[in-house]
Amino acid sequence: MKFFYPDSLDLVDPEFDFKSEEHSTHRVRHRDDVFAHELLEEAPYHGLLVSRSMVYGTGGNQRYRQSQRFRLLRTGARRFFETDQAPNAPLQIMGDCGAYAYVEQETPPVTVDEVLDFYESCRCDYVLSVDHVIPGFHTERQKSEGKSIREEWRRRQEITLSYARFFLKEHQARDHSSVPIGIAQGWDGDSYAQAVEALQKMGYDYVALGGLASLATEDIASTVERVSGVLRDATRVHLLGVSRAREFRRFQNWGVASFDSTMPLRQAFMDDKHNYHTPEKDYLAIRLPKVTGSNQLQKKVNEEKISASEAFEHEQKCLRALRRFDRDKASVEEVLDRVRKYELLFNGRDQTDKYRELLEDRPWKYCDCTVCRRLGIEVTLLRGKERNKRRGFHNMRVLFEKVAPALQGR
Ligand SMILES: [Zn+2]
Repeated sequence: MKFFYPDSLDLVDPEFDFKSEEHSTHRVRHRDDVFAHELLEEAPYHGLLVSRSMVYGTGGNQRYRQSQRFRLLRTGARRFFETDQAPNAPLQIMGDCGAYAYVEQETPPVTVDEVLDFYESCRCDYVLSVDHVIPGFHTERQKSEGKSIREEWRRRQEITLSYARFFLKEHQARDHSSVPIGIAQGWDGDSYAQAVEALQKMGYDYVALGGLASLATEDIASTVERVSGVLRDATRVHLLGVSRAREFRRFQNWGVASFDSTMPLRQAFMDDKHNYHTPEKDYLAIRLPKVTGSNQLQKKVNEEKISASEAFEHEQKCLRALRRFDRDKASVEEVLDRVRKYELLFNGRDQTDKYRELLEDRPWKYCDCTVCRRLGIEVTLLRGKERNKRRGFHNMRVLFEKVAPALQGR
């Protein structure tokens, strides 16, 4: 099974100094920053998913500056992301139109030609048809309660299929070397299966299931299983925005050849449980914001409930205790005591029971990825972009390693 990472220009400064917390003086933002596949000794994915909505800022996500967009379209994705420099190059590039960005609109605000032009400029290896997300799912429970589906869902499925038909025709007319993937949208197992059958009839032998990202695992699993019943021998399946690591083996048996997901990076700093992943379990990262980076602390300082220097002292004591702990010069209790005092100050919470587990297990000591080897305990701190993104890169690698054995049938 192949893991594609959806690009959103996730870069880090390779020269960032974690002691002084400063960037190198000569650093030019973006130019000197690196992607996960450049920082790690092995790319933590098989390829990148490049989304047109992301690159053009559709739906208000202005991640790309105009100059970056021009450079991507001029040089192609391989050059832009320097994927050929990755140790396990060449990484593959999958193109997508990014339908979630326009889910609120009546119809997709792009034409097949515009999307194919984008894919051509990016020089993609795999290209996904234009689709329109169905924002809902008809669960077994809703069915048993007699709830019917919305007409709007049917309309969106028809739009997606008619785009797919035209997309394949235009793709053939342009004589692309890329592999076309037809997207199926649906609201339950049966409707997805019908869409997949229609795509196969059109001539697709690679199909993608869209709109599953936020569903419960059992709804995704039953849908994929239902779809597997209509697959022709040669047809492969891609899961859009889905990574349920525990289900990989089942998914693979049901014909899933690839998936994409931002989950490993997002969870590194946007989750209240699963920030630092390991093959066995996930840990909560230690909350340790900079005094200047915490709104609550700044508010307390402004209201003169605490002095800035006192807050800073708490923060620094935490950091020193953690670093001493990493060198076996401080006890778990000592660290937890410091961390508790500081966290009570900036968010009034005591989460040390969860941090205790992390400190006692010391998972970063057992990870051989570049991030954990270089950062040590710093990788477990929820603190600033440079640490948080690197923890995300580590998480991607954990996911990648989980997928790789499934691929080899180990
Ligand atoms: Zn690691």
